Amino acid sequence: MRATKKILIASLIIALSGSAFAQLGDLFNKLPGNVKTLAEGAKNLVDKTKEIDEPKEIALGNEFAASLLGAKPLLNDPALQRYVNTLGRWLASQTERPDLPWTFAVLDDVGFNAFATPGGNIFVTRGLLARMRSESELAGVLAHEIAHVLRKHHLNAIRNAGGVGVFADLAASQLKWDANLKTFAANVFKDLYAKGLDKADEYDADRVGVVIAARAGFDPYGLPAVIQTLQSQSAQDNNFTLQFETHPSPADRLDSLDKAMRNRFESTNGSQGRPFNERVKEFSR
Ligand SMILES: [Zn+2]
Repeated sequence: MRATKKILIASLIIALSGSAFAQLGDLFNKLPGNVKTLAEGAKNLVDKTKEIDEPKEIALGNEFAASLLGAKPLLNDPALQRYVNTLGRWLASQTERPDLPWTFAVLDDVGFNAFATPGGNIFVTRGLLARMRSESELAGVLAHEIAHVLRKHHLNAIRNAGGVGVFADLAASQLKWDANLKTFAANVFKDLYAKGLDKADEYDADRVGVVIAARAGFDPYGLPAVIQTLQSQSAQDNNFTLQFETHPSPADRLDSLDKAMRNRFESTNGSQGRPFNERVKEFSR
């Protein structure tokens, strides 16, 4: 109860500082001409991902979530589920899309994996949780997945795999969308989750994830610490195969994060969080 109250107060503070996003619009109008053209080009690229609106994005994500749950069941541990969902929602509340129907859950699987779907469904496996050494590490992993949702990386991957036309066509008519959503989702699901996202989008999710974790009050080095753990694992270990196949090498990820973080986080007094067993006890009450 006390923790919930703290989270509520903290989200209020964050909501107040949200006007920083609005100021970006003003800044854009003050840019010199050539920079403005560049920025407009980038904006057009982003706008392409608006082929489907938010309700459609959520509906597509829910289809992927159903497929993921069809392959791996939820872990039967209500206290742990409540804890991971609360931590995840707290992190998501720090982002520019706080109002998505964010849902975080633990899958009963010994592999080391985390999955996100468009619209805000995020899953971590029991095997991943078992290897977290602190709450800030878990916060880093969840924040990385949240970043994939924020930046619509799954839609980007579908588009790059040749789904642009199909997407636009489906999205153009609600009737067509409703009639074909399940088939479309089933068709792209396997490729998307077996091959993974674009490598550039993985680096992007690492960078954005670090910022989200820091904003939520956690040590921003939680995510790099998890990637270091990965570095010490073998791709031959079945529990790690999918993780290695769907992400750039841990060394490259650390290298890219290092360049992005530089000295920027040195003064951050992020928290390591609380030990898991204490947290789960808290959430059993
Ligand atoms: Zn990722």
